Amino acid sequence: MTRKKTMAPQRFDQRQTMFAVHPPAPGAFDGVPGESQGHSMVAYAKTRAASRTFDELQNACACGPKVPEKEPCSLGPAELTQAVLTSAAEFGADAVGICAVREAWIYSCDHSGAPIALPKRCDRAVVLAVAADVDRLQDAQPLAANAETQLSYARSVFATSLMAHFLQVLGWEAQASTNDTALSIPMAVEAGLGLLGRSGLLLTDTHGSAVRLSKVFTDAPLEAAARSGAELQPYCRRCRVCAKACPAQAISMDSEPSYTVTGPWNSQGVLRWPVHAQRCYDHWRRIGSSCSVCQAVCPFSRQKKQLPL
Ligand code: SF4
Ligand code: SF4
Repeated sequence: MTRKKTMAPQRFDQRQTMFAVHPPAPGAFDGVPGESQGHSMVAYAKTRAASRTFDELQNACACGPKVPEKEPCSLGPAELTQAVLTSAAEFGADAVGICAVREAWIYSCDHSGAPIALPKRCDRAVVLAVAADVDRLQDAQPLAANAETQLSYARSVFATSLMAHFLQVLGWEAQASTNDTALSIPMAVEAGLGLLGRSGLLLTDTHGSAVRLSKVFTDAPLEAAARSGAELQPYCRRCRVCAKACPAQAISMDSEPSYTVTGPWNSQGVLRWPVHAQRCYDHWRRIGSSCSVCQAVCPFSRQKKQLPL
């Protein structure tokens, strides 16, 4: 299925994600513990502990931009920016950057159909990446790999929550966001964290695509990163490692990126190789857990390649 070619990214409706179209039952992707299936009870317990922690922290941060705790601190933009960038590592982030917020990245509606509108004054975002262990993502036991995925989500929401509270205590509004509210990947590219790959994932300079992304929207006068203008397409055009390894044939083998979409799950107006999210999601449902093959096999995830940033 193709749509009219356009250069302008259009706002994405979160109801079009697979998780919104086919809401999974609680625990649907937590796997089934049992040695006969190669799943260990320990890995299962890690998965459940991580997803509970994620849900608790996510719910605690999910009620819109919090009011600042006091008048904004006297730090100027440069000092404040430096404080945010250096503190992010202490909060557990493996990469951090700052971008100006574009309306095109904000979801038009959330998964329940409620319109999303951030306050215009929250025109900056701190974008965070938290790495997963690529060897554990490639564990032969699917539940062990799934546990690492869930643990990295828990570490990500923890770092994001800390960053949001940090800005609030300094006197600014701040809203923490993981996969909700806005498209993380274009924000991460704009913030200088990495580049979009054939796999539909962000590839970072330090951990390739083995990262979880999140962001904190704020009205703090932070200095945004300058865009490098680099792109990964010349490399992904030849590589195709993720597409060949995908067990669901969900990643495009096309020679060239395009504005083609494979379904409503692809945002429109973006030049890239579109991922067939329905095939990916159906694979997750078949195996009863998440899949990380495309993250684990990408040469950048093992730092065998330097990104052209
Ligand atoms: S997560 Fe697995 S099924 Fe989905 S695109 Fe990546 S490799 Fe394919
Ligand atoms: S595996 Fe190769 S083609 Fe796929 S995203 Fe990584 S570099 Fe690009």
